[in-house]
Amino acid sequence: MKILIVEDEPSLREVMQRALVQEHYVVETAATYAEADARIAGYSYDCILLDIMLPDGNGLRLLEHIKRLRKRENVIIISARDSLEDKVLGLEQGADDYLPKPFHTAELLARIRSVLRRGRSGGDLTIDLGNVSLEPEGRRVQVGGVELPLLKKEFDILLYFMQRPNHLVDKSVLAEAVWGDHADQADNFHFVYAQIKNLRHKLSEAGATIEIRAVYGFGYKLVTTTADE
Ligand code: CA
Repeated sequence: MKILIVEDEPSLREVMQRALVQEHYVVETAATYAEADARIAGYSYDCILLDIMLPDGNGLRLLEHIKRLRKRENVIIISARDSLEDKVLGLEQGADDYLPKPFHTAELLARIRSVLRRGRSGGDLTIDLGNVSLEPEGRRVQVGGVELPLLKKEFDILLYFMQRPNHLVDKSVLAEAVWGDHADQADNFHFVYAQIKNLRHKLSEAGATIEIRAVYGFGYKLVTTTADE
């Protein structure tokens, strides 16, 4: 799960970032309207935490922009102004929630979990594919009912694939989604290869009927295999 924090106040931004990283989210930050605009245009996020009053623009205009781009990001408005107007305007423009400052990080985390949960259909958090079952919140994976222990990044990669079965996943997009900010460096591709290799090995050892296939020259694809293959 990848989250963008748009907040110009450095101390608050850092507190939020620390809390989210601790909860295993991949976090990117933007301190200005322009920076946020560039990130939103170039990348996708599961949730955007949006400050309204930015030094170079109004967060509500960013929200308008997100909706115009038809992006599916969940947006939580975070506003210092205890203003009913901001709240009403934000929710009218399609924000998923509104959190007035100051707030407790526990409250922020609860709001994020809640919008991410609502964003999914049926409220059932478990993703099932083949004989593999993955719980995003509990960070648990089972193969044929047996717990499969995974390292943090292995889990993040598997989650990313299980949310997009049969989709061709470009390795740079995957690196960006799982590693965040610093993944644009070519250096990091060898981490992607290594983690995927380990993950494939663990899945096959556990007898999983899903497989991450390499698509030469493009990236990877998660497919289901038949049990006797
Ligand atoms: Ca601000």
